[in-house]
Amino acid sequence: MLGRTARKLIYTKKILILAPQKGAFFMRLFLFLVFTFSFFASFAQTASPGAPLRPPLELTSNFAEYRKTHFHSGIDLRVNNKPDKSVLSIWDGYVSRIRFNSASYGRAVYITHPNGYTSVYGHLDSYAQFIDTVVTNYQYKNHVFETDIELPEDYLPVKQGQIIGIAGNSGYSFGAHLHFEIRDTKTQDALNPLKFYEITDNIAPVFKQLIVYSMQKGGYLPAISQAYTVTKRGSYYSPATEVLVPDTFFLGFDVQDYVNSSYFRLLPKKIDVFIDDSLVWQIEFDRFAFDQTAACRGVFDHDAGLNKKMQIVTTYTGNANRQGFYKKYSNDGLITIPDNNIHVLTVKAGDTEFNTTEFRANLKRGNISRPNPNTKNQIHSGYFHDYQTENVVLKCDTGTFYGNLALEKPLIVEFFTNNHLAWTIGYTEIPLIKPMTMVFRNDSLISDKTIFAQMDKHRIINGWKPVKNSNGAYSVSINRPGTFELIDDTIPPTITKANIPANNNISYLKEFVFTVTDNSDEITRFNAYINGEWTLMIYDYKYNNFSIPLSVAQRKTIRTLDVEFIDLAGNITLKSFTF
Ligand SMILES: [Zn+2]
Repeated sequence: MLGRTARKLIYTKKILILAPQKGAFFMRLFLFLVFTFSFFASFAQTASPGAPLRPPLELTSNFAEYRKTHFHSGIDLRVNNKPDKSVLSIWDGYVSRIRFNSASYGRAVYITHPNGYTSVYGHLDSYAQFIDTVVTNYQYKNHVFETDIELPEDYLPVKQGQIIGIAGNSGYSFGAHLHFEIRDTKTQDALNPLKFYEITDNIAPVFKQLIVYSMQKGGYLPAISQAYTVTKRGSYYSPATEVLVPDTFFLGFDVQDYVNSSYFRLLPKKIDVFIDDSLVWQIEFDRFAFDQTAACRGVFDHDAGLNKKMQIVTTYTGNANRQGFYKKYSNDGLITIPDNNIHVLTVKAGDTEFNTTEFRANLKRGNISRPNPNTKNQIHSGYFHDYQTENVVLKCDTGTFYGNLALEKPLIVEFFTNNHLAWTIGYTEIPLIKPMTMVFRNDSLISDKTIFAQMDKHRIINGWKPVKNSNGAYSVSINRPGTFELIDDTIPPTITKANIPANNNISYLKEFVFTVTDNSDEITRFNAYINGEWTLMIYDYKYNNFSIPLSVAQRKTIRTLDVEFIDLAGNITLKSFTF
């Protein structure tokens, strides 16, 4: 009988998890359920998880969404409307890893559970005290801010529903939210967290556009695209006209999902493609391995994502066909119409709550425009390629590109600008899924102040320091196309703002805050000393902010403060204050 009751309660709670409910009654009910649930969780470790935040929960980003360089590895939950932003462990387990980064996940906690899953909570505003102590001890012992600690099983046990931190905006986050992941502990693969929760959702995905991509003759990228706006006609979506296609093509779907508790556009969970009622292609966003995450640049239309902020799922699997999202495909996701008759395309898109939308169109071979073939600069993605210029060798491993390429210009062009060596490498329409390596052919090109900089007009937007590879030559890893220059950077970082009171009275100051910028956009090292002793300085990359928290006792005893900021090229800015 007890077991039955428990199951019923768990079910009720699952329903509540993402439902937009209000009031203290639900909070009390939730706490009661968490309590009841924890009790049974100790018997059945594969039981349903608890919520990572106090309900109601609002989904703002879904699993596997397009993120320029990677798939979104979890879900995002809104917190800025919540009076209680406590983050809760979803099952019993232990804290297995704690990270604190200036960008990335900011403050993050990993909890390993005995059921084979690990849950991850990112962008926290603060850690719970028992976790914070471990982080602070590590930082002071090692005189570092950036933290990545792995912990053994018995060190920090947690119970389901236990508070592990407060949600916030730390790291590479723009607006307070909780980034929440569930991983397979053994493989560390990211799993779709919504598989573990029932959510209140009766809204089916919405089709907006169908895109037909024509490749260059022989199956080379870049392709050109033709978009068809679609609208709902009766029970399914369709375009106004029949869709003309070349002999061989691939398709893109602008299809977005919505849930009842949120107005954010979300990625559906599953898309099935049928030609004349036979299933030819299927994708399911259920799990991925992190070493496959850059395939995001091909699973989605990378150009549309980067330049139009659109999330379009394409059928072309290219060179990334090991990507686990593809459940069915043939011929690299290319579709061929066998004759001049009309063939029916049916696309079904579904979400995690089995709301399904259907799209239908009539496909017909037509005389449609195709990209001009570029016969000179062909790159086969299944082979190694080395491209030599006067000063560098650009090395592309097998599988560097999402598909075979035929380019207008050579992949790499070397030139001189303002007395700097410079290169254009590829362009954004070429989805790069593995980094390339650029090797400098002459050591004398590199001094200790040299940085390899990605430029936007005359501004440095990214910088890398050439490093000696195993053969003793300098090299850099390039993970994006663009224009790059080799620059000797002798300009140190600039402290553009400091909150030191004019009268030097710091007895009420809760923290010192410095805003520091650098021409290369990279502060790689920094330190702060109070009365000559190393003290923690917290770096928030997105705001260029460095803050030094001060305790009440500390404020009264500070006589000196020394700060140093060091950029990628090793240029140092030092500043001392006396109080
Ligand atoms: Zn996220």
